[in-house]
Amino acid sequence: MAAVASRHGRGGGRGGRTLLSACGRGGERMEPVVLERFLSPGKGSGLRARRRVRPGELLYRAEPFAYVVTKEQLGSVCEHCLRRNEHLHRCSQCKVAKYCGKSCQKEAWLDHKQECRCLKSSEPNFPPDSVRLAGRIVFKLLRQSVCHSERLYSFSDLQSNIEQLSEEMKDGLRHLAHTLQLYLKAEIQDASHLPPAIDFFQIFTKVRKVSGF
Ligand SMILES: [Zn+2]
Ligand SMILES: [Zn+2]
Repeated sequence: MAAVASRHGRGGGRGGRTLLSACGRGGERMEPVVLERFLSPGKGSGLRARRRVRPGELLYRAEPFAYVVTKEQLGSVCEHCLRRNEHLHRCSQCKVAKYCGKSCQKEAWLDHKQECRCLKSSEPNFPPDSVRLAGRIVFKLLRQSVCHSERLYSFSDLQSNIEQLSEEMKDGLRHLAHTLQLYLKAEIQDASHLPPAIDFFQIFTKVRKVSGF
């Protein structure tokens, strides 16, 4: 994700793609941090500029903490670089993930490895996009690796705002959490043994769909 200072307050970013992502921060190219986190009582936390900024100035750029290609785009864009390509090569194991070539497949393997087994064992079913994304988040949290995208916010910093959800919405998220549990069975036999920070229901309160950036 990128934030660009603008008179109209519009954000910039990758064009023409649809993906599901959980907000993260800091990509490989690390600009000096112009933004800082602040807490606003009753409103949660936010980001603000630490100095005056010029219109058009890049304030912040970040790769997502985790992302997946949506079902509609599956097979038409590379699952790693998200470039559109008519000649994608599919993963020989799950036959779901498709890449432009060997290098993208290799770079994606860390994020795909465990998911690959879950996708394979779920056949002929395919998880909803949000469940597949939540699965990637679970595996990433379990790896506990340092992620540059967490320079300003970590996944655990994201607010769930559970108290603002209706009972109907909570039921829907509980259903997704159950679907996630079934989907991850090949890798995580007993979700009750996971660290308390990895709560399937909570994850769905933090994940949202972002289109066209
Ligand atoms: Zn690619
Ligand atoms: Zn695979």
